[in-house]
Amino acid sequence: MSNVFIDKNQPRVIVIGAGIGGLTAGALLARRGYSVLILDQALVPGGCASTFKRQGFTFDVGATQVAGLEPGGIHHRIFLELEIDLPEATPCDPACAVYLPGEVTPINVWRDQQKWQEERQKQFPGSEPFWQLMATLFNASWEFQGRDPVLPPRNLWDLWQLTQAVRPSTFITAPFTLFTVGDALRLYGLGNDQRLRTFLDLQLKLYSQVNAEETALLYAATALSVSQLPQGLFHLQGSMQVLSDRLVQALERDGGKLLMRHTVEHIEVENGKAGAVVIRNQKTGEVWTEAADHVVANVTVQNLVQLLGDQAPSGYKHRVEKLPQASGAFVVYLGVDASAVPLECPPHLQFMYDANGPIGENNSLFVSVSHPGDGRAPDGKATIIASSFVDPTQWWRTQDYQRLKQKYTQEAIARLAQYFYLKPETIVYQEAATPRTFAHFTARDRGIVGGIGQRIPTFGPFGFANRTPINHLWLVGDSTHPGEGTAGVSYSALTVVRQIEAELKR
Ligand SMILES: Cc1cc2nc3c(=O)[nH]c(=O)nc-3n(C[C@H](O)[C@H](O)[C@H](O)COP(=O)(O)OP(=O)(O)OC[C@H]3O[C@@H](n4cnc5c(N)ncnc54)[C@H](O)[C@@H]3O)c2cc1C
Repeated sequence: MSNVFIDKNQPRVIVIGAGIGGLTAGALLARRGYSVLILDQALVPGGCASTFKRQGFTFDVGATQVAGLEPGGIHHRIFLELEIDLPEATPCDPACAVYLPGEVTPINVWRDQQKWQEERQKQFPGSEPFWQLMATLFNASWEFQGRDPVLPPRNLWDLWQLTQAVRPSTFITAPFTLFTVGDALRLYGLGNDQRLRTFLDLQLKLYSQVNAEETALLYAATALSVSQLPQGLFHLQGSMQVLSDRLVQALERDGGKLLMRHTVEHIEVENGKAGAVVIRNQKTGEVWTEAADHVVANVTVQNLVQLLGDQAPSGYKHRVEKLPQASGAFVVYLGVDASAVPLECPPHLQFMYDANGPIGENNSLFVSVSHPGDGRAPDGKATIIASSFVDPTQWWRTQDYQRLKQKYTQEAIARLAQYFYLKPETIVYQEAATPRTFAHFTARDRGIVGGIGQRIPTFGPFGFANRTPINHLWLVGDSTHPGEGTAGVSYSALTVVRQIEAELKR
């Protein structure tokens, strides 16, 4: 197959994957005049932030809430550059209602800063100095990130971008670079405050993949503060798919091309430089090699190593192999009668059941509930999506996958029924996704989700760079800084676009 690139006179960029990271990179590059081809193995674009429809319900596959839509926020900035309308959205307030084990009153993470301060002072007496430290670190980190640093730097240009983003105010974060949240809790004499720890474990696991003890403090400062004004979390009108659809619209308007159901099987490297990819058209079975000036891989770093095969640099491969096991997700999607949802139900809730049990494995559930008129359910109905982090390995080892899936589904529904009115007559539709499902639909290695974990050795300055050890090969997505989430991968995409532009201008 030839002529897949529309404009052969411009530098050609192939993007592997149409997740939010790949689409954002592709759309920005097309806007800036490059010839872009995006390939995705799935049926619909969006990856973990896509949707599927069943019996009149629209379910968000993974991501259900969006950060970065406020003026100056990363999606806002990118949509402005692309000259496309921001999706319609409602702010989440509270951002999350968190139910700790055995408690019937939630901890409400309010959007208003003052209200959230009063709530946490009531919930966690004596913890304010810790929260004040988080606020100080957040303000400095947020301003730093807003100046588009390249992290971690891999050459002089990257280093220059990084130093340009530093201001005297940034230095306040420096002494805390090697701190975890656990260290900060101990610093303020809160190390044994089990209730606060459980709350932090639950919230941080959502964003960092790891608990409070392990999460890098500078990362946590952002994760714990981004739900308040002037930032905030948003629920998109219609579904999460609108984000991808608008990016595709911009890409195609600017001459870029997206081919769905096209799998990249291999990245070809010659003389230390990526120059082509091997593509399989899933519908026809046709396999061909497509050349490009730059290749952007919107995949996990584990998948990147696989795509390189023998050409993966051994040090890089070794580092990836040594990464701690990443999490998978188990997700239950319910289409219900509206009577199953309590009145005034917040859009997002988090439950933990057994105080001595793990975070995840159905012992904690993150729940997203549709609201009337948000486009996800027919009149008089609603969607409930509950997810839990799981160890992906057991889902691949088991001889009896269907039975395990059924067990997890029943257990999750029984737990949800402690809050929602879930009976056979109120559940209209149910479906579940496991790490195997995510592996199938998003091609993520073993169905792992949410990046590499924001522990000290793998966050920010110590993480995986967008600039890979192979020239003209770039990594975009939640394996890179600043981590998971649609907002995170959009920053990652913007960094790569700037890096490619700088290379091409040289
Ligand atoms: C259950 C769950 C809940 C979440 N909740 C939230 C939330 O509320 N808010 C939030 O912001 N984030 C949330 N996230 C995280 C967020 O969804 C992801 O971090 C983000 O969407 C990842 O985007 P990405 O571009 O890095 O990659 P992905 O979404 O993984 O996209 C990669 C794309 O590449 C394609 N692909 C992969 N390999 C190949 C190949 N070889 N050839 C062709 N195509 C390929 C895949 O099909 C996929 O479309 C959640 C994730 C999960 C799983």
